[in-house]
Formats: sequence, C-alpha cells, structure tokens
Amino acid sequence: METAEARYQSLLRTIARHAPSTDIALVDKAYRFADAKHKKQLRKSGEPYIIHPLAVAEIVVEIGLDTDAILAALLHDCLEDTDASYDEIVKLFGPTVAELVEGVTKLTRVNFSTTEEQQMENLRKMFMAMSKDIRVILIKIADRLHNMRTLEYQTPAKQISKSTETMEIYAPLAHRLGMQKLKWELEDISLQYLDPKGYQEIVDYLAAHKDQDDQFMQAIQDKITQRLESVGIHGKIYGRIKHVYSIYRKLKDQNKSVDELYDLYAFRVIVDSIADCYNVLGHIHDLFNLVPGRFKDYISTPKPNMYQSLHTTVIGDQGIPFEVQIRTWEMHETAEYGVAAHWKYKQGGAGAGQEKEFEWVRRLLESQQDTEAEDYIHSLRVDMFDDEVFVFTPRGKVISLPAKSTPIDFAYAIHSGVGNSMVGAKVNNRIASFDVQLKNGDIVEVLTSKSAKGPSRDWLKICQSNQARNKIKQWFKKEKREENILHGKASFESELRRINIDPSVLQNEEILPNILRKVSFDTLDDMYAAIGYGGMTAVKCVNRIRDELLKATKSAPKEAATPKPLQSAGKKSNAAVNSGVIVEDIGSCLVKFARCCTPVPGDLIVGFVTKGYGVSIHRCDCPNASLNIISKQPERWVKASWAVTTADEPFDTSLEVDCRDRDGLLLDIATVMTAQKIKMREINCRTISEGHAVTSLTFSVHNVEELNAVCSKIRSVPGVEQVRRGKT
Ligand code: MN
Repeated sequence: METAEARYQSLLRTIARHAPSTDIALVDKAYRFADAKHKKQLRKSGEPYIIHPLAVAEIVVEIGLDTDAILAALLHDCLEDTDASYDEIVKLFGPTVAELVEGVTKLTRVNFSTTEEQQMENLRKMFMAMSKDIRVILIKIADRLHNMRTLEYQTPAKQISKSTETMEIYAPLAHRLGMQKLKWELEDISLQYLDPKGYQEIVDYLAAHKDQDDQFMQAIQDKITQRLESVGIHGKIYGRIKHVYSIYRKLKDQNKSVDELYDLYAFRVIVDSIADCYNVLGHIHDLFNLVPGRFKDYISTPKPNMYQSLHTTVIGDQGIPFEVQIRTWEMHETAEYGVAAHWKYKQGGAGAGQEKEFEWVRRLLESQQDTEAEDYIHSLRVDMFDDEVFVFTPRGKVISLPAKSTPIDFAYAIHSGVGNSMVGAKVNNRIASFDVQLKNGDIVEVLTSKSAKGPSRDWLKICQSNQARNKIKQWFKKEKREENILHGKASFESELRRINIDPSVLQNEEILPNILRKVSFDTLDDMYAAIGYGGMTAVKCVNRIRDELLKATKSAPKEAATPKPLQSAGKKSNAAVNSGVIVEDIGSCLVKFARCCTPVPGDLIVGFVTKGYGVSIHRCDCPNASLNIISKQPERWVKASWAVTTADEPFDTSLEVDCRDRDGLLLDIATVMTAQKIKMREINCRTISEGHAVTSLTFSVHNVEELNAVCSKIRSVPGVEQVRRGKT
C-alpha cells in the first residue's frame, strides 16, 4: 500500500515537472495541515485519507492550475469532513484559497437524485452558476476523476450512481471546458461500471488485436516520420486507438460490431507552426488515399471550446482507414486541458487579469453549439446564469427560477395550489420569511395549510417570476371579486382626485358608455375588479379616459345651460324650475336638497320623488343615489339639472376633512375659510383614533368651482390628508 509520504513525494515531482514556480513551502504547509485534520480517517480502500487530496492536487498540477488551486485541492475535503473552519483556512492560506475550498464543498453537497435529461441540464447549469471561480469546477472535476479511479472500493449501488453522475454531469462539463483527456478517462471508467459487458467486449477486442494494431500504427508512424524528416519539418507523431467510450458510442450509433468499425485509429502530428500544419496535411494526402468528405479545418474555424486542429481521414496500403489530427503544440495543450491550458498560458499576470479570464470562459460557453453526434450535451449559455437561480425541492428536483426569486416564486413554480395555500417556508430546513432571496443549491420546502387565507396583495410586490405574479393575480380575480371592486374603486378614485377630477363625473350616464368603451370593460364594477386584482392599473385606466372626463367636467355647467330654452319657454310643462333646479318630466314641484350630499350648482344631480315632500335632489355620486339603489325603484328617480340662475344665491354644503390631530388645526382651517370669504355655519372636530381626527364643515358656496377652490385650499393646510364631500 502506498504511504502518504510516498504520494506526497510523487506530487512534488509532478510539481517540479509541470509547475516549477509553485510555492513549495505553502504546498508543504497545506499538506501538513490537511494530513493533521484527516488523521485517523481512512478511505474505503483502507488507505489513509490524505492520499485522496494528494492525488487530486496532482491532477490539478497536471491540468496546469496555479498554487492557490493546488492548495485548495489539498484542502478540498477539510471543511466537509474535518473540524477545520473557513476562518482557519483564511488565516493560514488566505481568502482566495478559502473561497475555492468552500466552492468545492458546496458542489460536494449538491445531491443528485434524478436521471431526467432536463434535470441533468439544470444540474450542469447549477454547477456552473455555483462556481463563480472556474478553478472550483476544475478542482471538482479532478476530485471526481480520482474518486472514479478508486471506485472499485465502493458498493455496486454507489458505483452505478457515481458513474451515472459522471457520465451526465462531469464528462460533459470537462468537454465544455475543452479538457478532452479528462473527459475520455471519466467516460471510460463510467462505462466500465454502467455497461461492464459492452466495455469488456471492446477492451477484449483491442487486446486481441494489440500486436496487429501496434504493428499497423508503427508502420504508419514510420512512414509519416520519414516523410517529414525528408522535407525538413520538425514534428512529433503519436498513434493511438480511440478511447473505449467513443468506440462504444460509434458501435451503438451505427449498430455495428467492433470489427466492422470504420476508424479505430487516430494519429496526431504536432508541429511548431500553423504553416507547418498545412504543409503536413499536404504530405499526408500525398502519402495516403484521402477519404472524401472527412476533412475538417478547425484551425481557421476553431470549435467553440477553443479546440483547433486539422482533421483528415485517409486509407493506407492495408486498406484500413485512420484519422490524422494535425496541430501546433499550443493547440495540443488546449485540446488536452482546455480552459486550464489557457489558464496556464495567461498565468503570471495574476489578479487583475482574472476577470477577463472568466469572461473568456463565459464567451466560450455562450457560443457552444456542438452539432457532432457524439456530443450529446445541449448548448449552454453561462450569461443567462446571471438571471437564474437553481434550487432544490426536498425530494431533490431542481427548479430553475429568475434571479432574486423568493419562496413565493418557488411555491407557484411547483403548483398554483401550493402557492395559494402557502402559510410558511423552510430554506435549508430553517423557517424562512416569504421574501428571502433564494440562492443556488438551496433546498426549499413550502408549508401549506388547508385553511390558508390565500395569497396577500403584498406578494405581488415580493415575487420575481411572471409565473407567480400571474397566478396570484388569477387568484384575486377569481376569489375576491367583491373585495377587488372595493380596492379598485378606491385606487381609481384616488387617482382621479390626484389629477383634480371629481369621481362623481363618472355617474354621468351620457359619458359612461364612452368611458367603458375606452377602457374595454362592460361595467364600472368590472373595471374596478380588474384594478383590484392587479390586471389593470388605476393610472392606466385614468389615462385612457382622462380627456373624456375633462370634457365632461368642463361641459357640466354648459349642460345645465341647455335646458335654458325650456326654462324661458316656461309653459313647456315637462320641466319645472324651482330653487335653480330643473326636474325633467315633472311639473311644478317642491324641491329640496338632500342633507346627505348637499349638492351645489355644477354638481351632477339626480332627483328622487319622495312621498309627500316633492323631489329630493342628490348628487349623482351620493351613495344614496347609487346605480344599485336607483335600479331598485327606477320609476321614482328623475333626471335633474341646474338652471342658470342669475340670483346669486348661495347653497349650503358640507365637507369632511381627514387629518392628523394637532393643536391649532381647527383654527388653521377656519382661517383658510375666512380668507376665501366663505360663510361658515358649522365646524367641529372629533378624534377617531390615536392621532387622527375628522373635521366636519358646513358652509355655503355659489357653485362647484367655488367649492373646489375651497377644497384645494383646505388640502394645503398642514396635517390634512383627505377632503371629502358630504356628511357622515
Ligand atoms: Mn474529495
């Protein structure tokens, strides 16, 4: 059995070979620290645990990562499996190393329990989204590679699940990051556990033909070498059998047996310059017969994962086809270690350059669109991770939500029924507030109750997803029509008042149809309901009908003037003039003004035929003259309008003023009234709740313009919150 110390020496040798500039003192410190922390822990193989971090660090060195990544690899299981703390690692090795270790730990905690393809894609995305630093993923892939290499010590069930994960998550990620060598090894080991028979068949076939293959490859290699030497091109030629899993895929895809397989062999010619690549290509085509349609120039058009090479397939003397890949040394590094190789090249300008580094990865992944049959992974755009967050259900299903989503969004993403009966939420097993922002990898649980009251209107402001918003609105639309009408009416009328339009104008039957047409609702209640549940905003509705309303408001006095001929005609008995009011269709009659709404000239009015007291005049927006009430006894309601009165007679009216209770308020209001030369009849103030008061004013004005002027003056008194017509 390998001792830890021997393994450590091996790591140091690998460092000396691949990364001589590494700070060995720090590596030594990290090794001693991790070794002490993992002391007494054993791997399933019976080896001391530290063997694993040492092996992972060695892979990380081979990939070409920097000192921080090597330290993080040595420490990568400390947070999860020992009593080491984040702060401890910060203190000993700095914040960058600590963050890398924590990043790897988070990925380790991600629990895979699914095999659905869509879920796999989400998991891959979550992996990328969770690893803000690309080194985290690279270390994690190295970690997985060593675990796969030692998978024989695990239980059969674990072997299958780890192999599936590796095939679905880690190998595609390695491919996306351009690390072919790692990808191949991950795939071959996984296949060994997932289809032992299929794997063995290929391995046996290759073993049985090994001598023959070696001979064949040696012959080809010699032929190429001789040619290059004779023309003075400096290059190195390697021959290899394609990796087991790629042969396996080809067999499955083409439904063939191994000996029928087209190209098993691949040769690689590595040269010093791009010009040499094309020269070599010419010589290859001269030496062997070209298989048409198999030439690909990935030098002029690199693959999205940065892969560059010339590919061609040719047939030698023995009639066996083989592929030749031609590339430069730099292209070769990139092909073997992808992103990591790039890292290696750019290393040195540490720190500031890193931002750009990630952007490069991001761009690479954005443009990734593999069309080759063997690349079964889907396209992946990293930029979209900025506006997505991936979380788990308690059963391990991944749910993708817009960034900043809350438990409310999560609940509605599960089902509208879950959202509507939600009474609480747990995030990572802790009770969480509804508006907490979910993070990648969070496990979210919704607590529901049959007696839940349903969503609250605040939820509309809290949730981030349109899905949740629409479902909540839907609920309000269906469940709460009455309440919606009230809410909607209130906000609609307050919006009208904000732009100085009296809501009573809506009661004008002549303009009502126009207005409803403009907002596309059948009734006012429908409009209020829509505003109430949030399907429409009050501002939008008011904007659409503002012109109509202003027209109506302005023309109100003119309308009053239209009956003038009637009045002067006098005898035309379908109207009666009394106290400045014309009541249509009724002869001379007694008119009185309703105490509840105290109309003044300019108000839209309507008459109610009382039993014995003539006609009582209400404002159209008086609650006692609502459409609802009118519809109960329509025969007793009559149209009424103001006559143009020359008599300068004032009308009594009253206002209710909501205000903050304060000393001197009544005096201030009275002063405002006096300043406008308004004749006061009554003023009193009553406190209705802590700090709040209602002031009732009764006074006389000549018309609604004068009254509006009074209202706006009162509104400007400090502490006044609302001014309403009428009495309570
Ligand atoms: Mn590990």
